[in-house]
Formats: sequence, C-alpha cells, structure tokens
Amino acid sequence: MNAEHLSEEADVVVVGGGPGGSTLATLVAMRGHRVVLLEKEKFPRFQIGESLLPSTVHGVCRLTGVADELAKAGFTRKRGGTFRWGANPEPWTFAFSVSPKMTGETSHAYQVERSKFDQILLDHARHTGVDVREQHTVTDVIADEDRVRGVRYTDSDANPGAISARYVVDASGNMSGIYQRAGATRQYSEFFRSLALFGYFEGGKRLAEPNSGNILSCAFDSGWFWYIPLSPSLTSVGAVVRREMAGKIQGDPEQALMTLIAECPMISEYLRNARRVRAGQYGQIRVRKDYSYANTRFWRPGMALVGDAACFVDPVFSSGVHLATYGALLAARSVNSVLAGTVDEDTAFGEFEERYRREYAVFYEFLVSFYDMHVDENSYFWSAKKVTDSTTSDLESFVSLVGGVSSGEAALGTMAQRYKGRSSEFASAVDQVVANKGQSMVPLMKSAVIKQAMQEGAREQARVMLGEDAEPQTPLFDGGLVASPDGLGWSLPA
Ligand SMILES: Cc1cc2nc3c(=O)[nH]c(=O)nc-3n(C[C@H](O)[C@H](O)[C@H](O)COP(=O)(O)OP(=O)(O)OC[C@H]3O[C@@H](n4cnc5c(N)ncnc54)[C@H](O)[C@@H]3O)c2cc1C
Repeated sequence: MNAEHLSEEADVVVVGGGPGGSTLATLVAMRGHRVVLLEKEKFPRFQIGESLLPSTVHGVCRLTGVADELAKAGFTRKRGGTFRWGANPEPWTFAFSVSPKMTGETSHAYQVERSKFDQILLDHARHTGVDVREQHTVTDVIADEDRVRGVRYTDSDANPGAISARYVVDASGNMSGIYQRAGATRQYSEFFRSLALFGYFEGGKRLAEPNSGNILSCAFDSGWFWYIPLSPSLTSVGAVVRREMAGKIQGDPEQALMTLIAECPMISEYLRNARRVRAGQYGQIRVRKDYSYANTRFWRPGMALVGDAACFVDPVFSSGVHLATYGALLAARSVNSVLAGTVDEDTAFGEFEERYRREYAVFYEFLVSFYDMHVDENSYFWSAKKVTDSTTSDLESFVSLVGGVSSGEAALGTMAQRYKGRSSEFASAVDQVVANKGQSMVPLMKSAVIKQAMQEGAREQARVMLGEDAEPQTPLFDGGLVASPDGLGWSLPA
C-alpha cells in the first residue's frame, strides 16, 4: 500500500450509483457511517431495467426513505404483467393484487425511466449524508493478502486518487470487471444465453384499463417481446432472441428490430400508429447479451458485490432491480453489523451471501418454469427452452452454484423433473386464471414458483411497513440471523 495515496479515509466506499449502490450507501449512512460513493458517469444517464416489482417500491425504498418521493415523480403505475405466453392464445394477466376488487395501496409497482429513477435514488443518498462523487471511475481495489482495504480512482479531470475504507462494495453493474477482485469468477447460464435488442416508440397503443400500466410480454416464434409503457406516449420495446442471431442483428439493428416486430402480430398491432424515437437518450437501438450469470463468490473480507456486479438472470419477470436492491439491503445489514461490532464478519457476510443466492435461485427456477411453459415446437428459440430438451449440465451446475432451494439434489434427472412439474403446475394455474377471466389471482399465487418468487420480497415489505407489529422473524437457515428491529442490521433470533 502506498501511504501517500491513502490520505483519505471512509468507513465504506461504494463503486457505482445505480439502484444497488445508492440503496446500500443510503442504508449504511443511515447508521451514521461515513460513506463515499464513486460513480463513473454524470447523472442522469441511460440504463435499461425499467419495470419494477412492488417489494422494491414499498419495501426497500420505504426503508431508505425515498418511497414518498418516488410516489410524487409521476411514474406509470404497474398493477402487474400481461402475457401472451403459454398454451393460451389469449393474453392473460398476473396482477400483484389478489383480485381486481382488492387493490391495496401497495399492490402496484412502477415502470420507470431509469435515468429519472436512478437520479432520485442517488440524490436521496446524497441527502442522507453519502458523499456522492460523479464522474469518478474506480480503477482498482487496494488489497493485501488478508482483505480489501480501499480503492483507486480517477476523477473527472483524470486526476488519480485513493481512499481507504473498512469496506468496499462493488455495485458497478455488469460491464465492469471489479468483481474479479473479490476472487470471483462469473458463471454464465446456458439456458438463458439470449440476446436483447431494444428501442423506444412514441404513440404506441395501451392495454385496456385497468391494465394500461402493465408490462406486456409477448412470446413469438423467434423469442419474446417486452412492451413497457413508460409514460402515456413513450414505450420501451425489446426483443429477446437467440444469441446466435448477434451477427445478423449487429449489421443493421434497426432493420432487425423492425423485422422481429413484423413477426409478432400483437406487438405490430400495438405499434401500428407509433413512431420510433430517433433523438436523445432513447434515439438509439441497443443490443445486450450475456447478461444472465452468477458469480462464484459474493464477498471476501473487506469487499462485497451487489446487483449486477454479483448476479442477474433474464428480464422476463422484472427481477433485476429487485435483486439489486434486495442484495444491497442484505449487504448493508452485514456492513452495519460488523461496523457496530455486533456480529463477526464471517457470520454477517455468510448470511448475506446465503440469502442473496437463495433469492437468485428462486427467480432462476421460476423463470426456467416460465419459459418451459411456452410451447412452440417449430421454433429454435423455444425448443431450447424446454427443460426436458435442455437437460444439459447447465441446469445442474448452475443450480448447485446458486445453492439454496436446490441444494442436495444433485441428480440432474430429479431436477429436470422438478422443473417440469413446477412448469405444468404453473401452466394449469394460468389456465384457471384465464377461465376466471382474471377475477382471482389465487391460483397463480398458490403455484409454488410464484409463491416462492414473491415470498421474500413480501416479507421484507411487511417488515418495513408494519415495523414492530410485523410477524416475529425466523432465520431462513439453521443457525442464521434475523433483521434487527430498525431493519438496518442483523440480530440473533429471539
Ligand atoms: C435486456 C435487459 C432488460 C432488463 N429489464 C429489466 C426490467 O424490466 N426490470 C428490472 O428490474 N431489471 C431489468 N434488467 C436488469 C437491470 O438492468 C439491472 O439488474 C439493474 O440495473 C442493476 O442495478 P445495479 O445498481 O446493480 O447496476 P447499474 O444500474 O448497472 O449501475 C451500475 C453503475 O455503476 C457505474 N460504474 C460502472 N463501472 C464503474 C467504475 N469503475 N467506477 C465507478 N462507477 C462505475 C455505472 O456507470 C452505473 O451507473 C434488465 C437487464 C437487461 C440486460
């Protein structure tokens, strides 16, 4: 270590000011610690990931204190998702509320322009006391054999600097390689190895009320489309297709997107009178690939990874920002507990990693079943998404990597069978919802994959909203910890 570089000290340095970084920084600053957040870009900046889940909005964002500001920002209210997917030719809706008659204040999320959403979260971190520095790029982590001890960065004038810290949290998203300094390697999911191609349109059609704010996901021969209403007139439209189409797409992304839209009758109809945005942050057609992975490690002494720096899986159920903010909450509890001297580092970060992997595994399993449910035997894309056809080592190695729900089930056949079982149970729940014309979500809420996917977020949400009146917590694992009464740290169970 070079002492002259390390004149500056912080309790925690956060790398990246997306939802993962802002959330973690805020939750640690709320305990009075000195937090410096270094963000490479000048905000507002573009990011994809616009469709949120309720637990982010009413759980984590309520805990950080930014929920009321989000409610005032005018984001589109999302009551759920509408899907043209599975055996039914008719679109069906998954609503966050159990029935259209029981729409509580918290049974919605938002569709957000990420440039605005991320700015609100970052400004809120600043107001909470985080020292936010934009246009500061972290270039390396300072570490010795025992632990990570700080970061090196360059500022907006290309001046180098360094900060020492008790913890470095990497929330730098999926493009940076900083995660490797935690000794982690990135394991990509073969099953979800797709490519996304997306752009923005003005004047697209809306679903009928009360679903006009829903995300619409539409399966077609070559893959599936998302259609996200960001405002009454602006729509985010993206196609998820086979990765092998990359060469063709990159030659002329505009033409490729228009050809795919023409292949999908429902999206074509919704965009019939729309025009593509050609200027500003939405003017470009963008391509993303290799975005579904989990790292082999989520922490090492002195360093933790949250959000896309740790893991992400396929966008079909809008779980990215949820996983990023949930991971940030878990990591913040661990950092706060160790800094307060109430829990030792191994125990605190063991809890962080185990819970985080478990949540990731729950969504991974849900999404495998969700894909498996769609039937299109003549399509390359969809035949690769059949669990029984793709009993590759991917499913096994991946699920044993993410652990949690599936640990102990090493036999590939058993696992594929379980996925298959879950997928047909889910498909039959969809049939029941179609039959009851969406009047009751109970069949879907009862299906194992949905129940699990919504469970932990709902628990955190209830804990934040009810405070001391919430159900007493039990640890998720033998010998595990529970959230402290203020939600910002870990405690031993009563
Ligand atoms: C095609 C696609 C569609 C998606 N759709 C959805 C969706 O509908 N809903 C959803 O919830 N999620 C979705 N996601 C996922 C979502 O984009 C991410 O999960 C989410 O943005 C992760 O947040 P984060 O805070 O971890 O990272 P980011 O939002 O990526 O933020 C990371 C920040 O770190 C900064 N940074 C990077 N390197 C450095 C450095 N060296 N020094 C300092 N700063 C640095 C970056 O500038 C950036 O601001 C989608 C993803 C893809 C690929």
